[in-house]
Order: sequence, then structure tokens, then C-alpha cells
Amino acid sequence: SIPVICIDGPTASGKGTVAASVAERLGYHFLDSGALYRATALAATRAGIAIETAEETRIAELARELPVRFEGGRIWLGQDDVSDAIRTEEAGMKASRVSALPAVRAALIALQHGFRRLPGLVADGRDMGTVIFPGAPLKVFLTASAECRAERRYKQLISKGISANILDLRADLEARDARDQSRAVAPLTPAQDALLLDSSALTATQAAAQVLDWWQA
Ligand code: C5P
Repeated sequence: SIPVICIDGPTASGKGTVAASVAERLGYHFLDSGALYRATALAATRAGIAIETAEETRIAELARELPVRFEGGRIWLGQDDVSDAIRTEEAGMKASRVSALPAVRAALIALQHGFRRLPGLVADGRDMGTVIFPGAPLKVFLTASAECRAERRYKQLISKGISANILDLRADLEARDARDQSRAVAPLTPAQDALLLDSSALTATQAAAQVLDWWQA
């Protein structure tokens, strides 16, 4: 069967960077599942649906037909390059709200399963190991202290010329984690057979090397 490596964990734990680099090293496909929730939230906002009202059925309909493509390192929604629009903190918070709606999660399952193609897949998210690919032979739960994660996010933003406040960032990411951990469907939690990796004291390169070691063991 086609191998899948799952990398789950909280906001700004470095999942995306680590998963992308493992995928590149192995020549595997890469699924950024968070981008699907972000794109769904953006599509809902653009369709004039207020996320706050949690119009579950309408948002799930959009998710089921989401015209999202990952191409040339960019993320497209129909004809629009939404790579930057979905990366803002506000977009992350909206993604966290739509992702708590069970019908929205269900609507995105088939799309996510479609990423499992030869020679293999590295999938990054919150429920890759618990819900989407429960049979995956390697599941990693990547964490880092809230302080570290806020600092990383801060440096990322500053390097892009975006001003930010580290305490606000930390409060935002802790609020998002709290919502992701407490929702009724697919709450953020390690799979029973996940290997825990605390990246607080590691570079992304070191964390990726650990995942590759586990994979080759
Ligand atoms: O990983 P990222 O920060 O892009 O994810 C944005 C939001 O989407 C998360 O805060 C989470 O609420 C949701 N998400 C999810 N399940 C996934 C990936 C992301 O619920 N597999």
C-alpha cells in the first residue's frame, strides 16, 4: 500500500516546514491540510457568509466543491493565487472556527484522501494520524513550547516586513490551540501510536532528520 507519514501538532510547531522537507527528501507528495481549512474559510468570507454565524451547511457545501489547487509552490482558489491571503493570523483564526464544524470536516475527507498517491505522502495537520490516515505506519506529533512557537512566528513575520507583537501572537496561538483541542470532532490530540517530538530546542533541519531516522528505522 502507499506509505503515509503523518505530522500533526499545534499551531506554529514547525509542522509545515518539517513535513515539506521530509517530503522533498523522500520524493513524496505533500499535503498541507491546514491550507484546505484556510481556503474554505476564505471562500466562505468571499461568498459573504459570516464565519461567526457558523452556517455549517453552506460552508460545508463550499468545502465539498472547493476549487483549490497546489501548483508551482502556490495555492490557488479558482483563478486566484490565495497563498498570502490564507496565511494571515486572521485567516488562521477563521480556519480554526470553520474546522470545528463537523460537516465541514466531513466534506474535506475525500479531497485529503486523494493526496495519497505513489510513491508516498507526507501529511501535515491536526488529525492526519487520528482521523484521515489512521493506518499510517509513521505518525509524529510535533510540539514546541508556546514561547518558542510565538517567537518563531514573530521572526517569520518580521522577516517578511510585517510588524507584530510577540505577546499578542502568543495569546492568539494559545487561543487557537485551546479551540482546536476542545472541539467535539477530531480534537487536536496525538494518535495513540504517535511518536512525540518536542522541537523547542531543535532547528527544522534537526527535527526533519529525526523524522527521517524514524522512517528509515
Ligand atoms: O495548520 P494551520 O495553522 O494552517 O491550520 C489552520 C487551522 O485549521 C488550525 O488552527 C485548525 O483549526 C484547522 N485544522 C484542522 N485540521 C487539520 C489542519 C488544520 O482542524 N488537519
